[in-house]
Amino acid sequence: MNPFKTLLLLSSLLLGLTIPSCIVVQSNKTQTIQQGSHKLMSPTLGGKLFTSAWMQRSAEYKALCQQAYNIATERLLAATSNPRNKGKRWAIVTDIDETIVDNSANSVHQALKGEDYSQSSWDHWCDLGEAKALSGAVAFFRLADSLGVSIYYISNRDEVNKPGTKRNLIALGFPQVDEEHFMFRDASRQSDKTKRRNEVLRTHEILMLLGDNLGDFDHFFDVRDEAKRDEGVKLFAEEFGRRFIILPNPNYGTWEPAMNGGYPSLNDKDQKLRTILRSHK
Ligand SMILES: [Mg+2]
Repeated sequence: MNPFKTLLLLSSLLLGLTIPSCIVVQSNKTQTIQQGSHKLMSPTLGGKLFTSAWMQRSAEYKALCQQAYNIATERLLAATSNPRNKGKRWAIVTDIDETIVDNSANSVHQALKGEDYSQSSWDHWCDLGEAKALSGAVAFFRLADSLGVSIYYISNRDEVNKPGTKRNLIALGFPQVDEEHFMFRDASRQSDKTKRRNEVLRTHEILMLLGDNLGDFDHFFDVRDEAKRDEGVKLFAEEFGRRFIILPNPNYGTWEPAMNGGYPSLNDKDQKLRTILRSHK
């Protein structure tokens, strides 16, 4: 079937179901489901509902996350047990969203309101502290902590999101959740993580980086250019599954502005998506 028709059909099917009983939504009890609203027929929002269902319901998503953390564990044990590495100050750099926690409940909440991502709704979600840990994540970071490895949470969450994030990660059992190890986006709101990675490198050797967005690994990928980003995958091919541990995120990422040429309105995004999907027969 044409992928566009498939997406529309799946969106319609999803919207026809009693969604709260099958997909987790954040605990905003005032939310109502606008079934039949034309906004809900947005292929962008329908897509986010479907990818969220995959993240929340499929065993495959859990297995992929576990696989990433199994590889990370092997790398961690190999490095820390090697006598030649004795005395090294190791650090692990990790992103937070869709790398150690699952925020799909917020995507569902927004999509059911007929809205795309917004900063204010994101801040509210972070304050709730309801994100769930990805399979394998807590065990991996607790092992790293027990082996004396420093963990730096380099996230593009903002300073204002720190209290809710700390509460959330501590409740889930993540270690080293403190001011020293939280490197969030500063007031300049620059998403480029290079400066923060370099700060870690001043005192530590980075054993590995974990992320769901390629910019979590190298600034090369912080571009709105699909061909350039594809070129980077070839350039850094040897690093994936070694120094770069990537987690699956079908919901959002820099691939979206790269595909859309920036951050257009939801309506413009939908138009663009329809065009793209129709061109792939
Ligand atoms: Mg992320």
